[in-house]
Amino acid sequence: NSVTRGVTKEIPAVSWDDIGGLKAVKKKLQQAVEWPIKHAASFDRLGISPIRGVLLHGPPGCSKTTLAKAAAHAAQASFFSLRWHIFASPSIIFFDEADAIAPKRTGPSGNSSGNATVGERLLSTLLTEMDGLELATGIIVLAATNRPNAIDAALLRPGRFDMVLYVPPPDAEGRYEILRIHTRKMPLGDDVDLWKVAEHTELFTGADLEGLCREAGMAALRESLRSERFVCDDIHFQAALRSLRPSLT
Ligand code: ATP
Repeated sequence: NSVTRGVTKEIPAVSWDDIGGLKAVKKKLQQAVEWPIKHAASFDRLGISPIRGVLLHGPPGCSKTTLAKAAAHAAQASFFSLRWHIFASPSIIFFDEADAIAPKRTGPSGNSSGNATVGERLLSTLLTEMDGLELATGIIVLAATNRPNAIDAALLRPGRFDMVLYVPPPDAEGRYEILRIHTRKMPLGDDVDLWKVAEHTELFTGADLEGLCREAGMAALRESLRSERFVCDDIHFQAALRSLRPSLT
């Protein structure tokens, strides 16, 4: 069971409950990733073949990587991040920044110098690998990109990434759930209204909201050094809100 150097292989600890909002995306991923592994026999009986690959796209910091990890967790599948090698089943192979691995090939005969770029060599290896996975069950390839248009069309052919899922920035309800998740272990004051915070954090990504909670906690920590009061109050969230900018525009 050799693992290529630089690859991490593990069953991730993060679960669907650690991801706020995105109900529809989670459900689709569950069906695409969890079912073929958990209900392989049912697929056989129904004579259908599971999805081979899912391409997640959407703005940075909005949980593409986390979704892939949660999918692997739910399926109790090993999670291989980046590079490929001899895969054990069940496995989920995740390519982050897939546009960097498989950028659009330029022109009909590749790039102008005539030599295949590193990206192109990686792409052709990836395509060969994915075709080789055709017969192997319990191996699903997930890839994520912030720029789906930069992905080579060859990757999107049926049998490769035949599902494309948009992972949108969180809406107010999603932001509320994300704030709930990231304040789970924080002692919150009675005056903290996470709904209000959610409404005031338009254009914040999940990662931004996580940062906001940490920042509010840091404000409470600074105060606790004087007051010995270990509670994160509304003023701390307000201070954090004033000091942070959302990363979406
Ligand atoms: P990138 O495109 O930069 O790789 P990404 O879309 O893969 O970003 P993640 O790395 O999954 O985003 O998210 C970064 C962090 O933000 C996560 O570790 C998580 O703590 C937090 N986060 C993002 N979205 C959510 C969410 N919906 N619920 C809870 N936490 C979230």
